[in-house]
Amino acid sequence: MVETKTFESTSPATGEVLGTLTEADEGAVDRAVETAAAAFEEWRLVPAPRRGEILFRFAHVLEREKDALTDLMTREMGKVKAEAGGDVQEAIDMSYYMAGEGRRLWGQTTPSELQNKFNMSVRAPVGVVGAITPWNFPIAIPSWKLAPALVCGNTVVLKPAEDTPLLAQRFVELLTEAGLPEGVVQIVHGYGQTTGAALVRDRRVPVITFTGSRETGIAVTKSAADNLKHVHLELGGKNAIIVMDDADLDLAVEGIVWSAFGTSGQRCTAASRVIAHADVYDALAKRLVERAESMRLGPGWEDDTDIGPVINKAAIEKIHSYTQIGTGEGAKLLTGGEIASDGDLAKGFYYRPTVFADVEAGMRIAQEEIFGPTTALIRVGDFDEAIRVANGIKYGLSSSIFTRDVNRAFRAMRDLQAGITYINAGTTGAEVHLPFGGTKDTGNGHREAGQAALDVFTEWKSIYVDYSGKLQRAQIDNQEPGA
Ligand code: NAD
Repeated sequence: MVETKTFESTSPATGEVLGTLTEADEGAVDRAVETAAAAFEEWRLVPAPRRGEILFRFAHVLEREKDALTDLMTREMGKVKAEAGGDVQEAIDMSYYMAGEGRRLWGQTTPSELQNKFNMSVRAPVGVVGAITPWNFPIAIPSWKLAPALVCGNTVVLKPAEDTPLLAQRFVELLTEAGLPEGVVQIVHGYGQTTGAALVRDRRVPVITFTGSRETGIAVTKSAADNLKHVHLELGGKNAIIVMDDADLDLAVEGIVWSAFGTSGQRCTAASRVIAHADVYDALAKRLVERAESMRLGPGWEDDTDIGPVINKAAIEKIHSYTQIGTGEGAKLLTGGEIASDGDLAKGFYYRPTVFADVEAGMRIAQEEIFGPTTALIRVGDFDEAIRVANGIKYGLSSSIFTRDVNRAFRAMRDLQAGITYINAGTTGAEVHLPFGGTKDTGNGHREAGQAALDVFTEWKSIYVDYSGKLQRAQIDNQEPGA
């Protein structure tokens, strides 16, 4: 008898076991890919507008299920209710948006250099997409990958994060309810180094779309290189908010609190650095500390919770280790820096919002992704220094500046080395119809969302139709006009 391994989904808020799942071993991944590969032969021939209609229905189903998914997300992933609702809403928006692509998916038509010849380019689906997702946007990120992949005519094997399998399972069930034919989306649960790695190795999967850490992204790329797969990576960030001396400080504080502590700092776009002009530095630090200390920690489903738990034990240990690293480096801990364990909080993984001051740009807490509610205040003397510090990291995801000076704002838009720049807003808040992703070590040049996503999930095909009835040779026969 074959032994099947299982694993549990537990709530980071309470430690409660929410469900038990079967881990997909190599054989199960193999079967899932085989099913998806077989389904591809029919799905690619379904007219794109029909494929889009299924996504429209999926968006409707998600709207109906929004409250239930939001509640499950507060329990399985831990984010607070408003943010969990936003996560589901992003999937609704993405599904509507990509549904519309079913009636666009534009290619080009162009003149030919020869008479009686017609030229065009079309997008063709690639095949079975292997989608590997993290836990921090457990409904939104699967939608960023699956909606464009499906409307383009690919089939998908989804390997969701092992920390949020129930949400991913529900996502796939709802796609089926919306009318997706059997086999088109397969889900394989399990850990990255086993289930995920098996999917990346499988020769029948020509595209891997991966969101997760930089280190895993590198491992995925190396493994996928053996079969020359297309690899789309969305990796980490070390995003900064610049606050200039002419900024609206009230607004800047709102933006920083939302970006640094929202989702307990576990967003790839979290503001883990605040680069403040010396003239506003002290005032900003004071107000940030006041705000951080007024935030209530608790389970995400309670209405008055400001900060939910972080995802698991390893995460809280990593976050706390950075508090020790920061203190050891000589940064000044203004507030937080400890695991919250009073009362029921002891059952979950709660970390107090943490603000460091006197941080030097080169310190590890200012360079490495912490992925928790910790932000580092860096003092600068002028705009040029602010931009230099903001860019002085290996990542390039999101960036932000608070200023009332339009000239500075435009220079920042030009000079910040990041895939996303916000003016007078925090570092988070992407909308689904714009490209999403980053420069430098945040990715490998691709983008999620918007029209850019279509490039990940299609190959261009150029088509030449010769209706002259004779052999016309490009670059040769057009040298004699009228030939
Ligand atoms: P992670 O890299 O540990 O895991 C991500 C996924 O990869 C999980 O499903 C995991 O099981 C799988 N995985 C792990 N090792 C694997 C391997 N060897 N082969 C195949 N799959 C493997 O990341 P995480 O901790 O789940 O997520 C947090 C990270 O994701 C942060 O760095 C964050 O910045 C990043 N992130 C980036 C974006 C973006 O769009 N740029 C969005 C969200 C999160």
